[in-house]
Amino acid sequence: MPSIFDNLRCVLDNIAASAARAGRDPSEVRLVAVTKNVDAARICSLVSAGVGHLGENRVQEAAQKIPQVAGSPTWHLVGHLQRNKARHAVELFSVLQSLDSLELAAELDRRCATRGVSLDALLQVNISGESTKYGVAPDAAAGMLREMPRFEHLRVLGLMTMAPYSEDAEDARVWFRALRHLAGELSTLRLSNVAMDELSMGMSGDYQVAVEEGSTIVRVGTAIFGPRVR
Ligand SMILES: *Cc1c(COP(=O)(O)O)cnc(C)c1O
Repeated sequence: MPSIFDNLRCVLDNIAASAARAGRDPSEVRLVAVTKNVDAARICSLVSAGVGHLGENRVQEAAQKIPQVAGSPTWHLVGHLQRNKARHAVELFSVLQSLDSLELAAELDRRCATRGVSLDALLQVNISGESTKYGVAPDAAAGMLREMPRFEHLRVLGLMTMAPYSEDAEDARVWFRALRHLAGELSTLRLSNVAMDELSMGMSGDYQVAVEEGSTIVRVGTAIFGPRVR
């Protein structure tokens, strides 16, 4: 069975090859290793192998594991955040990839102000319109971003999306392209606290296509750690 180090090497090689195919510099693409259902010991070995960005999808699970992981990695929350967990999330995470409502933004801003910190965030967009997915509708993104300048403790760095599940990674391309185009349109708004520099798109099944389509952040779990048990 390949080790997580072999898997990591393979993922990094694939990112570099995809970037090269698209004429991009591989250093423009950041790997966030998604560690949900992975125990702290395995997370620590990945950090010692040089992975500096980790993603969790649930606040409670992250709260248990984050204190056990040495090396001060940057933690990203990639799953839906309920407003009543905002305070906890602000304490644990440096980047919220799943900002999806004004109410959540307001609550996070308030919690950040209390703590005297600021939080980097990505606006999650439900680019495919699937009813099972979180995220704002593409045509609601501009309206939401226009409200962001009043939340002084939040900085929106860009957009995040998940493509619909498919056996064929090529099916995701149209959605990744749509997210990139949306970011291009939104970048013309020129709002304070809002940048469109980051596109978080691509998971184990489709990160290579995502990198070809301009992803700057890929969120990869299974391809590194193997299938999730539990
Ligand atoms: C679990 C998860 C991932 C990683 O999924 P894999 O298919 O295991 O790579 C990425 N993004 C989000 C939001 C997730 O919940």
